[in-house]
Amino acid sequence: MFSISPVQPMNFGRQIIYVKRDDLLHPDFSGNKARKFYHFLHHDYSHVTQLVASGSAQANSLYSMSVLANQQGWTFNYYVSHISDFLLQNPQGNYAAAIQNGANIIDIGNLAYAENLAGMHLNDAMNYIVSSDPIYADKKHLLYIPEGGRCQYAETGIAQLAAEIIQWAQEQQKNKLMVFLPSGTGTTAAYLNKQLIQQLAQLSIVDVFTIEVITCSTVGGDEYLRQQFSELVDEIYYPKIINDGHKYHFGKLSRRCFDMWETVCQSGIEFELLYDPVGFLVLQHYLNENANSATEILYIHQGGVLGNKTMLPRYQRKFSRIVQT
Ligand SMILES: *Cc1c(COP(=O)(O)O)cnc(C)c1O
Repeated sequence: MFSISPVQPMNFGRQIIYVKRDDLLHPDFSGNKARKFYHFLHHDYSHVTQLVASGSAQANSLYSMSVLANQQGWTFNYYVSHISDFLLQNPQGNYAAAIQNGANIIDIGNLAYAENLAGMHLNDAMNYIVSSDPIYADKKHLLYIPEGGRCQYAETGIAQLAAEIIQWAQEQQKNKLMVFLPSGTGTTAAYLNKQLIQQLAQLSIVDVFTIEVITCSTVGGDEYLRQQFSELVDEIYYPKIINDGHKYHFGKLSRRCFDMWETVCQSGIEFELLYDPVGFLVLQHYLNENANSATEILYIHQGGVLGNKTMLPRYQRKFSRIVQT
């Protein structure tokens, strides 16, 4: 299904880093969410007819799940707690592409029983909807994926990513490698670190290769991220979390983020605007503090550039600058 994603060098500040192009995995199904949902392509889910999920109306996971559902012939209901008027009137990016793939995007405020959900977080609302809405009575044929793909299934595809990284390190003789990726839920970073540790041990090459996963929070801070790790893996597998002293709010537009995005896109690789700017700002800070380290950096490009179709106009409206991609 997937080929192995390529690795390319890129200038970053005064040094060369390597970029693992998971954004190029497959034309329709790429990036972080493709790794997470790989499990469903490689196991028998022929009993499923309905996919249900929730999250933001512009999420990368919305688009990737719409591709999955479309390929598998599943109906797909996706619940959101809000859709902006702007997006409703100007469908674009992940939202528009998901609708084209047949996704039903449902604002929970419009449900007949909306008042029962008042004040609930989307996750709690989902538990209520899936357990009590009669359209989901038939649990045998239902697949419910929690927000952001934060579930055990994600480990299958991330194990594949870990294997590709080890293979690349061996071929290129990168014996001291730092794998860096920005986190949302932390699912990818946690499983990736666990898989790297386990696979290096299985191959009996722990003494030769040091591959460390380092990540940063783009949502809610370091403590929140650690707590997310704790729900997925044992403490020995927690990746290292770094920060640059700034507090980032997910999806909030900032000049620093936009400037960093423009800088890294000058490499010729298009990055995305939600996670990557924070990732590169924190990485830059880290490299400035650890200037003499012999460790090489592998940055995971986790895809999501379709979301730029909505994020870039927002940035342009805010900073009234014309940018080309
Ligand atoms: C979902 C996503 C992430 C965050 O992944 P987590 O496993 O939730 O930490 C990062 N980058 C992109 C482009 C994503 O789509």
